[in-house]
Amino acid sequence: MKKPIDCDLLVVGSGAAGLSAAVTAAAHGLKVVIAEKEPTFGGTTAWSGGWMWTPRNPLARRDGIVEDIEQPRTYLRNVLGPHFDEAKVNAFLEAAPRMVAFFDENTALRFEDGNKIPDTYGNVPGAAAGGHQVIAAPYDGRELGGLIVRLRRPMRETTFMGLTIQAGPDLRAFMNVTRSPGAFLYVARRVGWHLIDLVLHGRAMQLRNGLALVARLLRSAEDLGVDLMSSSSVVRLLQADGAVRGAVLETADGLIELNARRGVVLATGGFPHDAERRRAMFPASDQHWTLAVPSATGDGARLGEEVGGTVDRTLAAPGAYCPVSLVPYADGTIGRFPHIIERGKPGIVGVLKNGRRFCNEGNGYHDYVTAMMRAIPPGEEIASWLVCTRAFQRRYGLGISRPAPVPVAPFIRSGYIKTGRTIAELARNCGIDPAGLEHAVGDYNVGARRGEDPAFGRGSTTYNRYQGDAAVSPNPCVAPIESGPYYAVKVVAGSFGTFAGLKTDANARVLEASGNPIPGLYAAGTDMASIMGGFYPSGGINIGPAMTFGYIAGRYAAGANDSDVGLAINANLEKGSYA
Ligand SMILES: Cc1cc2nc3c(=O)[nH]c(=O)nc-3n(C[C@H](O)[C@H](O)[C@H](O)COP(=O)(O)OP(=O)(O)OC[C@H]3O[C@@H](n4cnc5c(N)ncnc54)[C@H](O)[C@@H]3O)c2cc1C
Repeated sequence: MKKPIDCDLLVVGSGAAGLSAAVTAAAHGLKVVIAEKEPTFGGTTAWSGGWMWTPRNPLARRDGIVEDIEQPRTYLRNVLGPHFDEAKVNAFLEAAPRMVAFFDENTALRFEDGNKIPDTYGNVPGAAAGGHQVIAAPYDGRELGGLIVRLRRPMRETTFMGLTIQAGPDLRAFMNVTRSPGAFLYVARRVGWHLIDLVLHGRAMQLRNGLALVARLLRSAEDLGVDLMSSSSVVRLLQADGAVRGAVLETADGLIELNARRGVVLATGGFPHDAERRRAMFPASDQHWTLAVPSATGDGARLGEEVGGTVDRTLAAPGAYCPVSLVPYADGTIGRFPHIIERGKPGIVGVLKNGRRFCNEGNGYHDYVTAMMRAIPPGEEIASWLVCTRAFQRRYGLGISRPAPVPVAPFIRSGYIKTGRTIAELARNCGIDPAGLEHAVGDYNVGARRGEDPAFGRGSTTYNRYQGDAAVSPNPCVAPIESGPYYAVKVVAGSFGTFAGLKTDANARVLEASGNPIPGLYAAGTDMASIMGGFYPSGGINIGPAMTFGYIAGRYAAGANDSDVGLAINANLEKGSYA
């Protein structure tokens, strides 16, 4: 074994949670090491949309959206029911606005608002029509200097030629490229610069979404002197006098011991790729296609359990579900595409093998998969098909096949998209019951011609309407499916990652079975049991809490107290000086 490394705080994993904890602790004066198992930093966070659910954040206040803490608390209490944990929800709601202000004031992280994005369940008391989300502002990869080669590359399926596209005006421009000269010019510039970046740097340098978040946090970490160790997997925690005080790292140079005087933060990205733990906790786990990075193999849960921590198995769902289609590539590999956007547009329905619809397709991703799993009898394949017209595909895209002018033919040739001149022919090509599908589409069309969806109420919530197409009236979420040719893509159950994780207290300290904290051990992000209790009340409910509990853990480990930067920021928030 090599000579031990000494530090104050070891952070295991370099996604949102780990980087947030590391940057916070370093800004409060600690000597911090991040150990990342992969050669590149960023984890699933780098592949994500990067949205952070942070009610009462300073950017909402700046836009005049001022709400009492009771509003989001009421919303969560109503959505989470018996899974509502008052102490942790309070800690999150108190700290989230301070976390945003702290990073904005003290680090390279800057934010843009998502003030128009509503909470998912608009009919539930406490739901907000906006003001609850922020995202990292776009970032120029050149700002990372030499660190750029250590930044995880984006997820192939969610980029356009390697370029990450941000929900909101950026995405709208790409969707309207053939319809508006302004959009065309904007996209031409974005893509033009991107092509130059590909030639000069071999990768996208216009960073957005989760990649921008990771890049900005990496910049901040380096600025604050955080020791960034990649290709370094934590394999064992070290204890002294009952407290966690370090770890053993597996590196290219062999095993290294690391002493961490203030302890260790576990932020390894949950257990989406731990087949055994998934089998124990996920329904039909053999039919599950997670979108998380392959290195999220449950190391945090295992490391925590080895020193007395426990994984919470009582959540309403073990994972953050998302419908996924499987993309066959020419080299024989299979990609996983998250269906986030097109399900909410007018003129598409989701159906089962019997041809029947089973849910409001425009609701949240988690809800689509939950409804699909509920509707399919045990033992049958968990799958559904999103069915639309060719015209719909050309307008909004279908799965990984992009809208016009990007050609759709390669996806038809590969079998990813099934086609039919009639609904019955499409059904036969998909293996769906033709009579069932004809009946379901016919039934849907009757209401859709009036802009209604009596069966499932599409367009009944602000969230539905936000996901729809404002140019379509009277209901932006509903349009008939009546002029062929018809297209469909098969959708299976997937996830963004896990919700179940180590039990912690409101300070992110990992708890023993007795409920006592294990001194020196923290968990944040997907390594911590989600405070959302297995529900998905809004977009951004993974990274918002991951950033916030990383911040809480970093401050706690640093012994931050009333006189420090965090509370000064809180005072500014109360005075409204962020307005
Ligand atoms: C396509 C997509 C879009 C998404 N969009 C959003 C969104 O907009 N908003 C939102 O809230 N959520 C979103 N999510 C979910 C979100 O990305 C994750 O829940 C979140 O990023 C997890 O962050 P984390 O810090 O817990 O883990 P990660 O970001 O996964 O980081 C964990 C890191 O730990 C490393 N690691 C693992 N084991 C070890 C070890 N033993 N030693 C050292 N390092 C180790 C891993 O390699 C990894 O780099 C999305 C997910 C996907 C896939």
